[in-house]
Amino acid sequence: MKAQPHASHFIDGVYVEDTAGTVIESIYPATGEVIARLHAATPAIVEQAVASAKRAQKEWAGFSPAQRGRVLKKAADLIRERNRELSELETLDTGKPIQETIVADPSSGADSLEFFGGIIATALNGSQIPLGGDWAYTKRVPLGVVVGIGAWNYPQQIACWKAAPALAAGNAMVFKPSEVTPLGALKIAEILIEAGLPKGVFNVIQGDRDTGPLLVNHKDVAKVSLTGSVPTGRKVAGAAAAQLKHVTMELGGKSPILVFDDADLESAISGAMLGNFYSSGQVCSNGTRVFVQKGLRDKFLARLKERTEAIVIGDPQDEATQMGPLVSFAQREKVLSYIEKGKAEGATLICGGGIPNTVSGEGFYIQPTVFADVTDDMTIAREEIFGPVMCVLDFDTEEEAIARANATEFGLSAGVFTRDFTRAHRVVDQLEAGTLWINTYNLCPVEIPFGGSKQSGFGRENSAAALEHYSELKTVYVGMGPCEAPY
Ligand code: NAD
Repeated sequence: MKAQPHASHFIDGVYVEDTAGTVIESIYPATGEVIARLHAATPAIVEQAVASAKRAQKEWAGFSPAQRGRVLKKAADLIRERNRELSELETLDTGKPIQETIVADPSSGADSLEFFGGIIATALNGSQIPLGGDWAYTKRVPLGVVVGIGAWNYPQQIACWKAAPALAAGNAMVFKPSEVTPLGALKIAEILIEAGLPKGVFNVIQGDRDTGPLLVNHKDVAKVSLTGSVPTGRKVAGAAAAQLKHVTMELGGKSPILVFDDADLESAISGAMLGNFYSSGQVCSNGTRVFVQKGLRDKFLARLKERTEAIVIGDPQDEATQMGPLVSFAQREKVLSYIEKGKAEGATLICGGGIPNTVSGEGFYIQPTVFADVTDDMTIAREEIFGPVMCVLDFDTEEEAIARANATEFGLSAGVFTRDFTRAHRVVDQLEAGTLWINTYNLCPVEIPFGGSKQSGFGRENSAAALEHYSELKTVYVGMGPCEAPY
């Protein structure tokens, strides 16, 4: 098989198999072909992974920050050296075009490892607090064993975005990739070991919604960082809360992009397209509700249609392909059913709306689709579709657009396109979201915090802020004189 790994799991520095686990088939979304067969972790594998992480964490936390940083930066270098092969694997795992994976997937994982490897020498410093004669100091200490659970849209990036800050802060991790994309995280684990990470500090085990709870509920796990949907987030956060564990929740969204009459038309359309069609629309922060001010509406739609119909759909391994298939048959069925709902509820189909007839074979392709005349109450304007379906809504005033943009349970991201900078800042100030963009969309460099508000989650990934979510403060009061007591 094209992408069969040595074994399903990577524990304590080596590949491990347990064929008693349920079979997980890895399917190449462009052809429907099975490219690897793996097994979900049995309870024995879960035990082995957590025990290895628990043992290794003590050793790893004893490394100085600079020593830990050296390992992470070396792993970043190895990822960059192998960007081509890792990107090809990511394309097989997800169906995303090589044109994307080569610039956005392993390389973004490398950025994260390099960034955290670089900042930990200073970012974990504590403080000294004078108290008259006495004094106190604080230390930032690791949490212990951290579990990472990934979604299927950015498998290697998610593994690195969770591993880099967690490991930088001195934790060990057990990472469970999505059952839909099990391959990439194993390679990241191999590379970390090659870079000098002690065995057991980063472990990968396979599994699905039945495996996740075994990790979340494990008594030796101190924290869970999940990237996934809101319903899964509720379950995982609930289970973690029952044992008072730390959580980071990177969940779904239905983010708004506000395009004002004075916006640069081409730039606003680029933002809307990036925020709906990149990775075949399977991006959590996508701006799937595009509010366009009425004066620009007709021009916007005409040019958007032209540019959308020119998107090159095809074989993801061809460098010229701009859009590949969706990740799975099930995901395509889900997206097609939303498109049918959009038509049935009265939205105007501008382009796309079905399976492209330009691609042959069994792949899970779908056309990039634009609906206009979408109203706030339509299903396609309320629910996360997670496919290349853009909803364009009209608006008159700034106040109206802000109120409608905020009228959602989600709060992951938002964008504003306008040439009026006063308005841009006034509007982003009022939009309820964790990550916002002005005159661009979906750029997430490692230097800036990323994460959601409202039902889109809590905690932040990337930037120095992420370290706070993978460590806690220990405060030490130092008494310099005799200890006084009233009795
Ligand atoms: P999902 O919620 O179905 O699964 C996510 C992960 O959780 C998988 O690994 C799955 O096996 C695991 N899981 C499922 N039930 C579990 C349980 N009860 N306990 C523990 N683990 C469990 O999501 P998905 O379909 O893989 O990914 C798509 C979703 O992820 C979308 O909603 C998208 O918006 C979101 N997402 C968010 C971000 C972000 O950073 N905010 C990034 C990517 C994707």
